[in-house]
Amino acid sequence: MQPILPEVYSMTQRSCVLFLSVLLCSLPHFVHGQAGADWRTPAEASDYRTTPDYAETMAYIDRVAASAPGQVKIENFGKTGLGRDLKIVIVSKDGVFDPAAIHASGRAILLVQNSIHAGEMDGKDACLALLRDLIQNKDRAKLLDHVVFVFIPVYNLDGHERRSMYTRINQNGPEVAGWRGNASNLNLNRDYMKADAPETRAFLKMFHRWLPDFFVDDHVTDGMDYQYDVTFAADAGPDVAPATAKWIRETVTPGLDAAVNAAGHMSFPALINLNDDTDPAQGLSFSNNPPRFSTGQMILENRPGLLVELHMLKDYKTRVTGNYEILRALLEVLNRDTAKVIALNREADAGAARLGAHPFSNDRFPLATDWSGEATPVVFHGYQFTRALSEVSGAMWVSYRHEPWNVTLPLGTGAKVSASIPVPAGYIIPPQWTHAIDVLAAHDVNFAHTTTAWTGKVERYKCSGMQWQGHPFEGRHPIFPGESAGAQPGRYGQCTLTTETLTFPAGSVVVALDQRLSKVAIQWLEPDAPDSALRWGFFDSIFEQKEYGEAYVLEKLARQDLAKDPALKAEFEHRIQTDPRFAASPEARLEFFYDRSPWYQENHVGEYPVGRLLSLEGLPVQ
Ligand SMILES: [Zn+2]
Repeated sequence: MQPILPEVYSMTQRSCVLFLSVLLCSLPHFVHGQAGADWRTPAEASDYRTTPDYAETMAYIDRVAASAPGQVKIENFGKTGLGRDLKIVIVSKDGVFDPAAIHASGRAILLVQNSIHAGEMDGKDACLALLRDLIQNKDRAKLLDHVVFVFIPVYNLDGHERRSMYTRINQNGPEVAGWRGNASNLNLNRDYMKADAPETRAFLKMFHRWLPDFFVDDHVTDGMDYQYDVTFAADAGPDVAPATAKWIRETVTPGLDAAVNAAGHMSFPALINLNDDTDPAQGLSFSNNPPRFSTGQMILENRPGLLVELHMLKDYKTRVTGNYEILRALLEVLNRDTAKVIALNREADAGAARLGAHPFSNDRFPLATDWSGEATPVVFHGYQFTRALSEVSGAMWVSYRHEPWNVTLPLGTGAKVSASIPVPAGYIIPPQWTHAIDVLAAHDVNFAHTTTAWTGKVERYKCSGMQWQGHPFEGRHPIFPGESAGAQPGRYGQCTLTTETLTFPAGSVVVALDQRLSKVAIQWLEPDAPDSALRWGFFDSIFEQKEYGEAYVLEKLARQDLAKDPALKAEFEHRIQTDPRFAASPEARLEFFYDRSPWYQENHVGEYPVGRLLSLEGLPVQ
């Protein structure tokens, strides 16, 4: 029989036993530093009952910073919807705080983002402890040898200050926590590509100023119950630069997994989602990472991205210390592999800047990835569960009990490219599509404007069969059926390419694919990409038919067409015989003739206005 761990017996307590260091673990950190001073973080001081509000968070950071003059700088990087100042904390051993100087020194920059979902604040409290251990008591000072540690204490600041006991029903503490959405109720972790929120726009500017070498986004899970307290996923799919993906698979992921487990926590190196919510025995599903997510955005930025998810049902102390351990372990990896990660990022940037160099080659660009169907058996430490028919829901429900369920389960591991395109030389966007262009500008994508009208041959899409989402999703009604199915190409309608000679007015935007952010432009401008401008609704008006024929005019047109075109007549009669709804609709029967006339063509319905450039030669750009 497996031993049963009492619920109160936390991971951290177990780690102390495991390492026979009960004394060390139980001694609070204020034994270090000046006599009598209490350097416990606010969460530690409350014995992890509470998490500090923003003022208390920043007061603690200021106090620790003052204890180590010249090692911490706090910078504003923009404002929230409610006008609060967004801040990053830069921790640098020698007081060099200029990103260019840090890059020149050969040190790596780690950026850790906390509280994008502000009810999930574990990373914030972990970073406060890490900050103290880096520079105040210096227990971890060596982790700054080759790395500059930059963290956002609270990203979704307006959500963080909307504090309540009722924000996270699934989560085991702290007592009061912030809200998932920002002040406009947007989920910032769906906003990276479309950049609707002021926080996203501020993030992108800050990110490009710092250009970190590694990015972490700290979260807390939802979903099933299991023994692990730390779960994480670092991108290594077919849309990541191959050398970076190899380093992630062979060094980063196993390194973090081993280090977190060695510290007495239980780590699982993938996101844990069930294939069937009503039956854990059916295994764990594949996780996708389109650009709406922070870590999906990192793929477009050519930077490694790590998603950390602490398990919601563990006590707050276990979660915060688990979050601390994975950040510590990552700092160790980055200190060991500093030159490697810098070189990988340089090569990934160069690869993105070469994308337009050989337009229409056989190297297709991956727009979307999906599960290939390949599953890997993994040893999984879950909890025993019972399935029963619920008289409440009328469906099967799962109840867990905290007895180990150690099994081998299939984990959806295989990723395939599910949509791809030959890369053009660049894109040309007519100037009136200001909102779509503005998003490219928010992402700092370089582009030029044409000085005169330009006529030339381009590829362009014609789109039809679009299905708009009826219920709002992130403040829009996008062209995909829902969040879970959002990355599936083909579900939203169809766009097919044609080659045409078109005229683009003066002031059109020309995006060349010779820049480190080429992937951002491609993902935004290709309709088949899961978070494209077209799918998010930035081009909805192209699907509107603006002129219609009046019945008495179309009656005349129909008679003329029927008389002169036997094939059209046959098609019309066949439709009446085989389509009862069509046959019963006087409007549809008349529109049949309008839709096949030059008058309908003049509406240009579904003609996507962005051109795929065959070449950049001869374009009148400044
Ligand atoms: Zn989250």
